[in-house]
Amino acid sequence: MCSFSIQSLRASKEADLRLAVLGDPVDHSLSPSMQNAGLLSLHLPYRYGRLHVRPGDLAVAFDLLRERDFIGWNLTLPHKLAALELLDGLDPVAHRLRSVNTIVNRSGRLFGFNTDAAGFVAAIEEAFACDLRTLRIAVLGAGGGAGQTVARHLSELGALSLVLVNRTVAKTQRLAKDLAARSKTRIRIEKWDHLADVCRAVDLIVNASSAGLDGERLHKGWRALEPRHLVFDMVYGPQETALVRFAREKGARATDGLLMLLHQGVLAFEIWFGKPAPDGAMRAALWRAAGRI
Ligand code: NAP
Repeated sequence: MCSFSIQSLRASKEADLRLAVLGDPVDHSLSPSMQNAGLLSLHLPYRYGRLHVRPGDLAVAFDLLRERDFIGWNLTLPHKLAALELLDGLDPVAHRLRSVNTIVNRSGRLFGFNTDAAGFVAAIEEAFACDLRTLRIAVLGAGGGAGQTVARHLSELGALSLVLVNRTVAKTQRLAKDLAARSKTRIRIEKWDHLADVCRAVDLIVNASSAGLDGERLHKGWRALEPRHLVFDMVYGPQETALVRFAREKGARATDGLLMLLHQGVLAFEIWFGKPAPDGAMRAALWRAAGRI
């Protein structure tokens, strides 16, 4: 339902299909359920679909969506950084965070926004009711689009300290240098091999890595989790993630990426249509699609 490749979208005659999420993979995305419920609730005559776009095809996909007069679209992995090169303008927040997850097409000119950071903060507040500025925080996958966004935003907010963990260390080295020049937050880089030590040194652990999307086993470093920990797994799926289940078994408070998906999606809807999103309808549809209600 509503899933396209570039070729099948080119051939399709569905004129009401005017919004989409682009990713690789993208079939797991629950954004269509949430956004279509919002559109329906406000009687807007459009549909939101999924578009499978490989990294080398992003520019071709943008041209096609522009041609088909799409209102806008979302980006999921791995496109949030590469998209920066393809836009006519950037919102100041997206510019500062250097990552785009929401695009608006204004008469063929493309403008990029970032709703992930605000969606992340809203999700943390809803799940844990805590003040991020008082926490020692680790971001795993800090070199990816979502990880860099959250790390940049947390350092702007003035988190107590940040530990950046990424498989490709060069990415976190660049990021750490950049953050240290702009913020008072103490920044440290660590390797995945030291995950247990990282856990012991922090209060909140944010998993922004896509490791585990393919059902890989959990890293053994997670065994260091304790009841005092807060765990935010940005990954989401039909069931709660293995990390969230494991963290709860260890007594920690944990939540997956569904709340963040909701909040970033509500903000994206408001950017596209310039009016308050029907967040109740979007939340109910998302929870239903995820099998949570
Ligand atoms: P991305 O830009 O492709 O980044 C992927 C990250 O995962 C990179 O840090 C990458 O490390 C790391 N990674 C991938 N495979 C790995 C492995 N086998 N072992 C260790 N690290 C690995 O993707 P993204 O857009 O940031 O998204 C990352 C995750 O967050 C995805 O699961 C996405 O669905 C989720 N997300 C959720 C929301 C939400 O609303 N809930 C919003 C944004 C993102 P390298 O740098 O070394 O490649």
